[in-house]
Amino acid sequence: MGEKPKVAICWLGACGGCDEAIVDLNEGLLDVAEAVSIEFWPVAMDYKYDHLAAFGKGEIAVGLVSGHVRNSEHAEVAHLLRDRCKLVIALGACACFGGTPALANLVSREEILDAVYVKAPSVVNPDGRLPQVETAWEEEILRLPAFFDHVYALNQVIEVDYYLPGCPPPSELIRNGVRAVLTDDLPPKGSTLAPRKALCETCPRNKTKPMRLEIHGPIRRIHEVEADPEMCFLAEGILCMGPATRSGCGETCIRSNTPCRGCFGPVPGVSDPGSRFISSLAALLKVGTTGDPEAVMASLGDPVGYLYRFTHPVSTLGARRLSQATEETP
Ligand code: SF4
Ligand code: SF4
Repeated sequence: MGEKPKVAICWLGACGGCDEAIVDLNEGLLDVAEAVSIEFWPVAMDYKYDHLAAFGKGEIAVGLVSGHVRNSEHAEVAHLLRDRCKLVIALGACACFGGTPALANLVSREEILDAVYVKAPSVVNPDGRLPQVETAWEEEILRLPAFFDHVYALNQVIEVDYYLPGCPPPSELIRNGVRAVLTDDLPPKGSTLAPRKALCETCPRNKTKPMRLEIHGPIRRIHEVEADPEMCFLAEGILCMGPATRSGCGETCIRSNTPCRGCFGPVPGVSDPGSRFISSLAALLKVGTTGDPEAVMASLGDPVGYLYRFTHPVSTLGARRLSQATEETP
C-alpha cells in the first residue's frame, strides 16, 4: 500500500468552531485518519510552525485552512501553507469570505486599538500605550505580529483551490469535501464544494413562502417577535437571507426557528449578496400610500451587519474599504 496523502489542518484568525466541526465527524474521524496522514493540526496537538516549514514544496496533499487574515502571523502561515500544500481548501465563512470578524473593517485599526487598550472600562492605561511589534526587554527584543488595517478573506492573500463555506461548515460537507479530494472527484478549481441552489429551494418552510411575497410593515427582527415555527420568515416580515444564500448547511438555523444569516455566502453568479438582497427586499416592500419607506428600511437596524455579516471583505463595500486602508501587503 502506498503512502497515505498528507493533510494539514490550520487556523488563522478563527474561533476554533471549524476545527470543532472536524471533531464532530465523531467516529467518521477514524475513517479520515485511516485514509490520510494528518501532519499538522495545532488545535488538536502541539505542532509548531517549524514542523510545517520542514515539508517540501507541495509535499502535503491538502491543507484545510480556517479563519481570516488579520495580522502578519496569519499572513506568514497562509503563505507557508500555500507553498507546502498541493491543494488549499478555505474552510468556513471566515476563510471563504472574511466571516463575522471582518465587520471590524467598519472601523479603523486605530479605533480598535484605542477601544481595546485605552478606552475599555476595565483598562487603566493613562499613557495610552499600545502593543508594539518590537519591544526591547532586558537583553532581548520581544516581537508581536503586526496588526493589519484590514481583515482579509484567505483568497485575498493566497490562491485558494476550493471553498467549504458555513459558520462552521457542517461535518458532512467536510467529509464529502475530503472524500472528493481523495477520490480525485473534484469540480473545476475555484469551486465551492456545496450545492449550487439557494437555501429557499431546500428550506422546509418553502411551502409556506407565498408565490407573491410582500412585506407591508416594518421589518421585524427575530428577537422582537415569537416566530411561527412552520412559517417562512420572510412571509412573517422577518429578515431571512435564504433567497440570496447558497444551500448545503442542512438548514440548521431554520430548524431551530432562526432565520438564515447568510454564512454559506452568495448563490453562484452573485458577487455581492448584500446588494442583491437589498434590491429584492426593496421589490418586496409594499408600504402603501400611507407607509413611510424610510421608516421601514430603518427598522432593519444594522443593514451592513445584517446583509454583509459574513462577506464584507469580498463585497463591493469591502473592496472600497480596502482601497482606503493603510498600505500593507499581507
Ligand atoms: S467560520 Fe464560524 S466557526 Fe469557523 S472560525 Fe469563523 S466564526 Fe468560527
Ligand atoms: S426566506 Fe428563509 S424561511 Fe423563507 S423559504 Fe427562504 S430560507 Fe426558508
